[in-house]
Amino acid sequence: MGNYGEMLAKQQAFYNSGATKEVDFRIEALKRLGESLKEHEQQLIEALKKDLNKSAFETYSSEIGMVLQELRFTMRNLKKWMKPKRVKTTFTHTGSKGTVYADPYGVALIIGPWNYPIQLILAPLIGAIAGGNCAMIKPSELTPETSKVLKKVINRAYPERYIAVVEGDAETTQDLLTEKFDYLFFTGSVQVGKIVMEAAAKNLTPLTLELGGKSPAIVHEDADLKLAAKRIAWGKFMNAGQTCVAPDYLYVHQSVKQAFIDQLIRETREIYGETPIENEAYTHIVNQKHFNRLKSYLNQGHVLYGGQVKGEALVIEPTILEQVSFEDEVMQEEIFGPILPIITYETISEVIEGVQHNPNPLALYLFTNSQKIEKTIIQFLSYGGGCINDTVFHIVTPYLPFGGVGTSGMGTYHGKSSFETFTHKKSILKQTNQFDNPFRYPNTKHGLSMIKRILK
Ligand code: NAD
Repeated sequence: MGNYGEMLAKQQAFYNSGATKEVDFRIEALKRLGESLKEHEQQLIEALKKDLNKSAFETYSSEIGMVLQELRFTMRNLKKWMKPKRVKTTFTHTGSKGTVYADPYGVALIIGPWNYPIQLILAPLIGAIAGGNCAMIKPSELTPETSKVLKKVINRAYPERYIAVVEGDAETTQDLLTEKFDYLFFTGSVQVGKIVMEAAAKNLTPLTLELGGKSPAIVHEDADLKLAAKRIAWGKFMNAGQTCVAPDYLYVHQSVKQAFIDQLIRETREIYGETPIENEAYTHIVNQKHFNRLKSYLNQGHVLYGGQVKGEALVIEPTILEQVSFEDEVMQEEIFGPILPIITYETISEVIEGVQHNPNPLALYLFTNSQKIEKTIIQFLSYGGGCINDTVFHIVTPYLPFGGVGTSGMGTYHGKSSFETFTHKKSILKQTNQFDNPFRYPNTKHGLSMIKRILK
């Protein structure tokens, strides 16, 4: 059992020195992260190739490049975000000034998953640094090569008293969670999210949970089928479906089912070739346990396309399933793999009922040209976020806060919302000494009638 109390005490001491609070310190720290990341770019690409067989293109576009974009955006805007915000006061507060300060929490613990092991650790870290915090980060043990290089990236950029990496498994995480951090940021499964929240409750530690769930993609009868198919194939099969915001299953309007499926197969072939299982750039399944779980889904429903597996390499082909029902396991659990079940519908209210019946999705994608359908879905269904006529792309812009709702998580990050997540809004009222309004004091003459006239 590790003892992280000592490391935490060092970080707390550094935090209490006030060093992390200066804007120049924070910008310099973000700059160093960018430099170290670029310095280790090749090593990270190689590590992810070993861990997940991720291609250099995917590692750069969905991990390193995304982090660099967040960094640039944050560095450009940080001074503005940090400025204390003057707010109005009411009549009762005449003479005083209201100001909101974005105050760091202290030392944050960031726990990450394996599926995008660079981005899902470093993007929250950017928020923690921008907010003026120290941080301890715990990457996933299931991508050990990447975790090793991440440690190098961090150690090259920072002393441990400021930012430290702790490598280890579930037990390590549980040990860390017994310590009293000032903020917890967890990305991972719903099940472990509950463990983290329970631990947070013991110390009343504020937290963000970025969890998962089943994210539907809806293809309406008036959708641009070719583009829908292309964007769904891209969002679903990248990283072999091991993406928290990947379309988990499809709702396709009955009248366009066949035409859409033909397009989807065509677009999937276009991206991955005739035999994706042999494609060197196609990501593997993370481990045997997940491979076996995914393989068992192939016996549910009818395989329309794909379905081939390569056991020794942990590869599963992009696969389309039909004839599945909500009672099948594949429709009960988050798939988190390259298997796409298709369900058909006739009216949009069937879709609404179906989604409402299940836990809140992390993402939802709607393909339609109808503004009415668009409005109905956005208004009626509760989900983290998503796209109209696209998949996954909403998380790639720092202008949109990203996060779940209900079982798919709580809190948001990316861009300014990362800064907001990692800062406490400290509200300060500066009172005037020029005069003193009498109405608040209970001994004021006619106090009650006066206060009734003022506060109504
Ligand atoms: P996970 O919950 O198994 O692991 C995440 C982290 O928790 C790891 O660092 C792991 O060491 C630790 N952990 C695992 N078991 C633990 C335990 N019993 N006690 C304490 N800590 C424990 O998740 P995962 O398999 O790495 O990732 C897949 C899940 O993450 C999926 O559900 C996916 O949807 C979700 N996810 C969500 C997002 C998002 O941004 N919302 C992003 C990626 C992944």
